[in-house]
Amino acid sequence: MKDIVNLFIKLIQINSVSGEEEKIREFIINLIKNKKNFTYQIDKIGNLFVKTKGKGKPILFCAHLDTVEPGRGIKPQIKNGFLTSSGKTILGADNKVFVALLVDLLINHQINRNLEIIFSVKEETGGGIEFFPFNWLKAKTGIIFDNANPVGGIVLRSPEIINFYIEFLGKSTHASTPDKGINSLLPTIEFLKKIKIGYSNKKNTTVNIGLLNSGTAINSIPENTIIKGEIRSYDNKNFIYLKNKFKKTINLIQKKFKGNINIKFDGYCPGYQHKKNDKFLKKIFKIIKENKIKPYFLNKSGISDANILNFRKIKTVVLSDGVIEPHTTRERININDFLILKKIFFDLVNFL
Ligand SMILES: [Zn+2]
Repeated sequence: MKDIVNLFIKLIQINSVSGEEEKIREFIINLIKNKKNFTYQIDKIGNLFVKTKGKGKPILFCAHLDTVEPGRGIKPQIKNGFLTSSGKTILGADNKVFVALLVDLLINHQINRNLEIIFSVKEETGGGIEFFPFNWLKAKTGIIFDNANPVGGIVLRSPEIINFYIEFLGKSTHASTPDKGINSLLPTIEFLKKIKIGYSNKKNTTVNIGLLNSGTAINSIPENTIIKGEIRSYDNKNFIYLKNKFKKTINLIQKKFKGNINIKFDGYCPGYQHKKNDKFLKKIFKIIKENKIKPYFLNKSGISDANILNFRKIKTVVLSDGVIEPHTTRERININDFLILKKIFFDLVNFL
């Protein structure tokens, strides 16, 4: 029982903020390299891929090695049955709880089935799993424990997201002679009035302007205004509709504006939706239930490696890991939850 907790404690003490996963990858390789029955490869970006030889259809498990900041020099503590940090850093349970489960499986247990395991990099920042060589994979289904909710949660969907950047380029002049300049703030205000910020026309879509930069002085007309924001949606049709609406709105405003407006979209992240009555999900549901944990579905979630994997046609389901307040210095996990998670994970390995 304590093995998994000890392994976890070792793993979180290895610094691995996004982009600096080398040490933890080496640590895992050192543990697994002399074991028979599986092979490993590292791709160009640093994702570690392990493949076991066994029976049955291959199934994919994917855990990310990186953490957010403050994630250096983590000092784990056990308090009232919880694993926590000293309070100065995160704990790194996101996602090292799952990394520990996978490494423990590889080094301490006999595995009789075909498993494909990705220890991914840069999950928190993007730029990791996207570059994985997908021709290495045979699995058509996958599991990820990377959702901070009580154990038993099955994530049904994740939104698609795109970022937008709009530059309004005018001409500066003194505040007393507005007719001599081109005020870039005016078309910006017009644009902001025409789009709906917050929940959009439909509740399953949100629009956010996160950044607005304009002007240089109180007494001059702002030459340039830049806004940066995102569209986030569970409804692909509405997502495309809004993207086009933004472009059209900009085109209309441009016709009246003497300066220039540029709109650019990037940082696209695909979304996904699973059905409750899908065979794979039903099996997962049953396995959780058999462990005397109440399975439940989650309709809202953040982004994980599953977005890319689903986009790549590997039906990947994200499950809750019992981690509390990840990405904060209060991040923690109950040791009992961790042990229940291990049981569920083993049953998924054996019976999925
Ligand atoms: Zn995570």
